[in-house]
Amino acid sequence: MEFEAVIGLEVHAQLLTESKIFCSCSAKFGAPPNENTCPVCTGMPGVLPVLNRKAVECAIRTALATSCSVQRKSVFARKNYFYPDLPKAYQISQYELPLALGGHIDIELPGGTKRIGITRIHMEEDAGKLVHEGEFAGAQASLADLNRCSVPLMEIVSEPDMRTPEEGGAYLRRLHDILVYLEVCDGNMEEGSFRCDANVSVRPKGREGFGTKAELKNMNSFRNVEKALEYEIRRQVELIEDGGSVVQETRLWDANAGVTLSMRRKEEAHDYRYFPDPDLLPLLVADEWVEELRKTIPELPAEKVARLSAGYGIPRYDAGILASSRALADFFEAAAALYRGNPKTTANECIHWKDVILSGRLSPGTIAHAVEDRESGTISATASKKLVELVLETGKPIRALRDEQGLTQLSDASALDAIVDRVIAASPKEVESYRGGKAGLLSYFVGQVMKESRGKANPKVVQETLKRKLG
Ligand code: ADP
Ligand code: ZN
Ligand code: MG
Repeated sequence: MEFEAVIGLEVHAQLLTESKIFCSCSAKFGAPPNENTCPVCTGMPGVLPVLNRKAVECAIRTALATSCSVQRKSVFARKNYFYPDLPKAYQISQYELPLALGGHIDIELPGGTKRIGITRIHMEEDAGKLVHEGEFAGAQASLADLNRCSVPLMEIVSEPDMRTPEEGGAYLRRLHDILVYLEVCDGNMEEGSFRCDANVSVRPKGREGFGTKAELKNMNSFRNVEKALEYEIRRQVELIEDGGSVVQETRLWDANAGVTLSMRRKEEAHDYRYFPDPDLLPLLVADEWVEELRKTIPELPAEKVARLSAGYGIPRYDAGILASSRALADFFEAAAALYRGNPKTTANECIHWKDVILSGRLSPGTIAHAVEDRESGTISATASKKLVELVLETGKPIRALRDEQGLTQLSDASALDAIVDRVIAASPKEVESYRGGKAGLLSYFVGQVMKESRGKANPKVVQETLKRKLG
């Protein structure tokens, strides 16, 4: 029997605000333990939370960028559970009435684009962190760092529309890029600013209904999400083939062992005893506010890929790499505007130097000059690479370096003519064989000319000149 996987992803993204969602503590990552805390975010009795407007704006802009409908009224609810890093013993989240519903993201796959539904986007606060360190009474001790308590998050829940780990990976990357483009999340997966829980089930191919799902946690890179899904799909299929059945549970991905491990039976929503938070008013979002925010949505990755590809005549694949970062795409467009030759060459250069470009060490002018000189045949491809490296080393302008290093090629046909004539005159035997039909000897002549010119001749022009003179 052939099986098919069904995948739905829940992403928690930290909203890019200065302060926390319900108090004015800093939301920055990496402060000394418990530095960013106050009576509100540590849940002292008698305090009142106040909603952060910037956090709501970030979530609304995300909703707009994913074609969700922003709800005029949403409600914050208490999700009750005990955990040592959750001093209030409840997390403020949104439950029955979330901020946004019913959107979608288009993902790029080798076979074309696919639309993945977004079920909902809601806002919530993060919990703290336990650090397992040292000993207490002869046992492992744990320390609570509450800096993350009440850091603003949004949860983006997808429909179970994905069928393979690759589709899951493509969805996550696209969603990640959208959030970074919007500047609503810094996208840092290692620091936990962008985390994914992956729900996966399997079913016999062709069946309508879904199988029982497992929820996978603890993957901190795109690649790990894909690997965890691959493993889990195989595990579920083998389990069913052996006559067993999948139980609904939460499983942890162990990246070192490359396996998922059962963590706990999944809670049901009713276990959390959700109820509207009496300390917070319903969130009412006026249409005018939404329309104001709509104006701030920049060109998004999908649109950028389409425009770069059509506008510059470059392959979608290349456009996709350029658009993976707004800064890289901007750099490419600036370089392509400075030199309007073949944008494909400019795109290749930008992709090749991607990392240094993103670190801000190259200017678009450098790449434009490198591409222009290469296309005109003034410098060779090898010299072009070497020159960019020299720019990085010395910070001097690329053309000054080119002249200083004598890296220009001889492309001028008349200048090459004399060398070609000399080579032909010096090899009468080879000339005879070539004219007698040994076309392969052309590379011998090219080699001789390159030698005579001490490597400075433009090989393409040399070939043309030789063919003309010998033919
Ligand atoms: P729960 O109540 O267990 O959290 P939800 O209905 O809220 O489940 O769905 C959580 C996520 O799991 C969503 O992204 C959804 O698309 C996905 N999902 C739901 N059912 C399945 C299934 N049978 N197989 C795979 N994914 C599923
Ligand atoms: Zn606080
Ligand atoms: Mg759920």
